[in-house]
Amino acid sequence: MRTKSSIILVLNSGSSSLKFQLFQMGQEEQMLAKGLLERIGLKDPIMSIKCSDGREFKDKPAIKNHDEALALVCEKLVDPKSGVAVLQSLGDVHAVGHRVVHGAEEFRDSAVVTAEIKASIAKCIPLAPLHNPANLMGIEACEKEFPGVPNVAVFDTAFHHSMPPSSYLYAVPYEYYKKYGIRKYGFHGTSHKYVAESAAKYLRHSLADLRLITCHLGNGCSVCAIDRGKVVDTSMGMTPLPGLVMGTRCGDIDPAVIIYLMRQGMKADEIDGLLNKKSGLLGVAGISSDMREIIEATEKGHEQASRAMQLFVQRLVFYIGSYHTILHGAHAVIFTGGIGENSAYIRSRIVERIHRLGCHLDESKNQVIGRPAIISDERSTLKAMVMPTNEELMIARDTMRVLGD
Ligand code: ADP
Repeated sequence: MRTKSSIILVLNSGSSSLKFQLFQMGQEEQMLAKGLLERIGLKDPIMSIKCSDGREFKDKPAIKNHDEALALVCEKLVDPKSGVAVLQSLGDVHAVGHRVVHGAEEFRDSAVVTAEIKASIAKCIPLAPLHNPANLMGIEACEKEFPGVPNVAVFDTAFHHSMPPSSYLYAVPYEYYKKYGIRKYGFHGTSHKYVAESAAKYLRHSLADLRLITCHLGNGCSVCAIDRGKVVDTSMGMTPLPGLVMGTRCGDIDPAVIIYLMRQGMKADEIDGLLNKKSGLLGVAGISSDMREIIEATEKGHEQASRAMQLFVQRLVFYIGSYHTILHGAHAVIFTGGIGENSAYIRSRIVERIHRLGCHLDESKNQVIGRPAIISDERSTLKAMVMPTNEELMIARDTMRVLGD
């Protein structure tokens, strides 16, 4: 029988979407159900809930906002007729953990939500104008749906707070950092933290003894240098745009490109769309932002797809080399995210380029898909590893931690 104190709801609210996972925390950390509402407030919203035992619920409900979306999710999770009732009552939910994208310098750690914390999250809106308002909508929906139940904000940026100024400052006049908060913050922090902790456990080492390079390769991609549990550098910046080549984001480019395009008559919003939504793998290959399709096309001899793939690999190799140096050598390079967990092809292309760092692939071990594994061979002094990420579980753990449970 579940105890009330162990059930944590994790919410990830986007401007027109609401994703959730429900966990029973404790020794086994079991995911009870997860779901997604898309197109909230738009035409033809879609809702799906899936239980860990395979039971499913799908619907196309008319929902106008996040309050209605959450109320509907809650109704289904307790209604025996829905087929996905995993709760006896909403009172079973002990706390709600929220993914919040930008915590700027306000947040060095996850925080129990109060009126002041909400005001601080709102203060970070200029740095994440699409995400933070949506995250606040999710928090406010929970305050209405679960009165008296604590909400905890878990920030994508918080894990990176240990970066030294030599990593986080940009070489622009210092007053711009002071006045506008222009600096590197880093993102995907919850994922980097989760895989670093999981890798330490897998290697049967304390995180406090390890120097790790974690590569989160999904639609968004970032890499992180972690010295004994503390981030020393990461590839994303003030926004998630810089660093690695991503599905549709350009990653690092000469900042003067933007000035040049403005002088050609492009407006800020157009350039924003160009670099965030039309660049990266999609922009270079011209066919897809999906790495599976890029690989397939590359193998069929599609020249642009091959260029996009090579750019992706080269940029990551560049960062791994830099971070290996910054860390004074590392114990392991860890691959996670949809590409990192599933693509033996990309992992192989990366590892073959870092043999000088002492990392040698074991091709048969590299065939692993979506499971933790060491994929380098015995003689490697720098291990290569696959470690599936689980940002939602990390948010649930953090929620328990900051509540002192
Ligand atoms: P998100 O960042 O949206 O959470 P994911 O972590 O699911 O995305 O990663 C999506 C990416 O993973 C896509 O580029 C997809 O093509 C890629 N991917 C998933 N499976 C494979 C695979 N077997 N081989 C190569 N790429 C894969």
